Formats: sequence, C-alpha cells, structure tokens
Amino acid sequence: IFFNGCSSGMISMKHQLSVLFSFDYRVFVNRSVTLENIKCYGFDMDYTLAAYKSPDYEDLGFELLRDRLVSIGYPHELLRYNYDPTFPTRGLVFDTMYGNLLKVDSNGNILLCSHGFTFLKRDKIHDYYPNNFIQRGNTDRFYILNTLFNLSETYLYGCLVELFTRCSRYVNCQKGFKYGDLFMSFRSMFQDVRDAMDYVHDTGVLKESTLKNLDKYVIRDPNLPVLLTRIKEVAKVFLATNSDYNYTEVRLMNVSICFSSKNPKKQWRAFFDLVVVDTRKPLFFAEGTVLRQVDTNTGKLRIGTYTGDLQHGTVYSGGSSDIVCDLLDVKGKDILYVGDHIFGDILKSKKRQGWKTFLVVPELAKELQVWTEKSLLHFSCRECPDISAIQTRIKVVTYRMDLSYGQMGSLLRSGSRQTLFASQLMRYADLYSSTCINLLHYPFSYLFRAQSVLMPHESSVDHHPLNFPSPEFSALDHVQKISEAKV
Ligand code: IMP
Ligand code: MG
Repeated sequence: IFFNGCSSGMISMKHQLSVLFSFDYRVFVNRSVTLENIKCYGFDMDYTLAAYKSPDYEDLGFELLRDRLVSIGYPHELLRYNYDPTFPTRGLVFDTMYGNLLKVDSNGNILLCSHGFTFLKRDKIHDYYPNNFIQRGNTDRFYILNTLFNLSETYLYGCLVELFTRCSRYVNCQKGFKYGDLFMSFRSMFQDVRDAMDYVHDTGVLKESTLKNLDKYVIRDPNLPVLLTRIKEVAKVFLATNSDYNYTEVRLMNVSICFSSKNPKKQWRAFFDLVVVDTRKPLFFAEGTVLRQVDTNTGKLRIGTYTGDLQHGTVYSGGSSDIVCDLLDVKGKDILYVGDHIFGDILKSKKRQGWKTFLVVPELAKELQVWTEKSLLHFSCRECPDISAIQTRIKVVTYRMDLSYGQMGSLLRSGSRQTLFASQLMRYADLYSSTCINLLHYPFSYLFRAQSVLMPHESSVDHHPLNFPSPEFSALDHVQKISEAKV
C-alpha cells in the first residue's frame, strides 16, 4: 500500500484506501510498467485530456451528421431519427458491401450482426457470410468504427439502412437500394457518411457547436491540472494531438481555467515541455509530416520546416514521433503515451516505436458496473442432467447480460468470447483505465505489475510440489501429483 505525496492524516489515508479498492479509480495492467523508469509522458488531447460528456456530445455529432446528409439530398425522413445511445457499441465493423454492422472477435469470427436495427439470426448471417467469418484485413470493404467520435456514425448507419429498407419508394437489393433508375449502393452510402464526418470535423462545425455550449459538452476535471503539475515535477511532458492549434488552445484553456490564473491563455502551455498539434496520427508514428512552428498570436503556421532545438513555450505543428524524441532527448522505451484511440494512439506507438502505452477507455466504468452486478446472474441446475436445457439457460443468461451493456452488448466481449477491441487492448495497451486522471492515485515510483499468465500447457502442471520437493517427497508422490493435476 502506498500514499501519494500530499496526503496526510487518517482521513486522506482512509480516502486513499477506499480509492484503491474502488475499480472506478484503478489503472489495469496488461504488461508491467515501472513508473520510476518513465522519463517522459505524452498525452493525446481529444477524449484523453479533454473529455466529452456522453451521450450529449454523441447526440450533437449525430445531429450535425444527419443534417449534413439531408442537406446533400438524403430523404427528409432521416430527420425523424434521434440519437439512441443504447444502440451503438464502439469497435463495430461496417460491411460496405451488404450494409451490415458486425461485432467480431480478433480472428474476424462474427459475434453479432445487424441490418439496420434488425439483429440477424444465425441462418441469415450464414446467407451473407457462409463461414460466419470476415477477412477484416480487407479494409477496402470492412471499416472499423474504432473511436468515440464514431459512435454517432455507427448509429447513423443503422438509421440509414433501416430507413431505406422500410421506405416503399426504394426496392431492397443485396448490395443497396433501387429508386427508379438510380441505384444507391451501401458502398456509396458509406462514402457519403464518411465525407459528412470529415465535413463536420474539418470545417469546424462540430468544434464551433461544442465551444458554444461548453458546459453541456465538455468535462472540466479540476484534477487534470494537478496531475499534469505533478508529472512535470518528475518527468518531461508533451502533448500530441490531431486537432489544430485554435481548437487545442480553447479546449485546454477551458480545462485549466478552473485552476484559476490571471492569464489562463498562457497558462495551459506551461504544463507541457512540448506541444505538437496537427500530428496526423497514425502517420505521426511512421514517416510523419513537416514540422512547422505555430504563430500563437494568429494561429497561423510559419513557413518552412523547423530544424532548431526545442524552444519552450513554442507550439509546433506536424512532425513525427522521431522528431519528438529528438527534441525532448528521450528514447521511445522511456515514454508512456496516453491516448484513447486504440489504433492511432496505442497500436501504432507500440508497434512502430516501442513506446509504453496507456489506453483511456471511458466505457470501462459502465463495463465494470455491469460485470460486477450481473455476475450474480446464475441458474441452478443441480438436478438437471439434460445438457441442451443447460445450454439454453446459458444462452438466455448470456443474452440478458449482454443486453445490460446496450443493444450491441459489451465493448469487450460477447458472452464468453472477446471482441477484436478487447484483444487489441490486451495486446497493445500496457496499461488501461477509464480516465488518465486515475494516474493521480499512484505514486511516480509505482510498479504496475502484470499478473503472470500461464499458457494452457503450463497451467496444467502443479508447479509447487515439483519445484520445492520436501526431503520425504518420493517418486510415487511425484507421479500421483502429476495425475491429480491432469484430473
Ligand atoms: P486527438 O484525439 O487529440 O488526436 O484529436 C482527434 C481529432 O481528430 C479531432 O480534432 C477530431 O475533430 C478529429 N477527427 C475525429 N474523427 C474524425 C473524422 O472521422 N474525420 C475527420 N476528423 C476527425
Ligand atoms: Mg483522442
């Protein structure tokens, strides 16, 4: 048990203990990380340092997307749909050929499939996917809706397919809908939605609406400046965001403003040794782009590639992870990068650069709540030797548990099977938690130790008596122990 620097007296000890035992405040460990060895902390901004209120923010995203589609010619009936947060789960795959939303495991086996809002039964899924499997490497056809920004988009695919399927003006075909001599393929519908997403983000429509109503859409956590200040005392800190300078300025100013200062505009930058905007992750973790300086008075980029040393207080645009290491004089293995995007922030920084990684999973609070409460769901079958009855009961219990997370079930599993998202989380995120603020509950000398996981053949052997034989331990005991272990 440890206590963080400033705590003193019994009340804070009690508080720290209750925090330790509450799952909501915990950081979970896939692979061991010694915080003492971390020389540099990197942070993503959107949904990491700058969190949004759910489902209000997704609701806004959905409305803007929906309205954009209507403005480019989609039927007015679309306006009848409002965002339903119980439908989408993050990490679903959209099949641009058949218009289905799919929940898959790490190998591409289908766990769940919906066409519009209709959940397909096994035989119908087989009609589309005879092997109950997709080649998810086929990224031209299968689009993974990985980010929290994608939640509103996921729901919109459901609405569009539902609308066209039910509308009598359109004829249902396998790969889309016919309307007179026009054919609306699922593929072109997908492209229109993607373009609308880019429009909503790139033109600043979403950002403007967010800034107009900060109280409704953004979370202001007074612990964030505390966390950043503490980290800066022991390590270097940088920000690497795909957002542009102007939005970063306003968003982070609003995070830190609650910490009070005479000049909040300047203050947020003081939390970081280096600020890089327009990073274009995942490209940032590969060849990257040209590094330029931002004129913080006008928000405009200075011409030419920046080639000098790190200048404190300067904001940079573009660049790459290699440039960040050079400017801060740190090696990849000494960096802990904290982000919410499993692919752009975590998988790429781990696979391409060997950075230590911390994934922010805001859904974790709900996931843990359901997991804790519903794990009590059980059935008694002491006198029931009929295996098919037991299997049916298991299916019912699993179905009820999945529904407790939402219509598409948990982000991390479907019944006993793990999703693609869960497998990537375990493989690429060393640490994960519902928010980066939870780092505040651990001292910077802490060793996050991963539980050792035995391979199935290793766990079939009882190691204790074999490794530490007592003097009386006979060959007969040995054989007996092995057969017990096998049983
Ligand atoms: P970060 O998480 O701080 O790196 O910022 C993510 C940025 O990506 C934000 O500025 C979003 O507006 C932007 N973004 C997220 N999804 C999309 C998209 O689908 N199209 C274009 N921009 C996006
Ligand atoms: Mg982000």
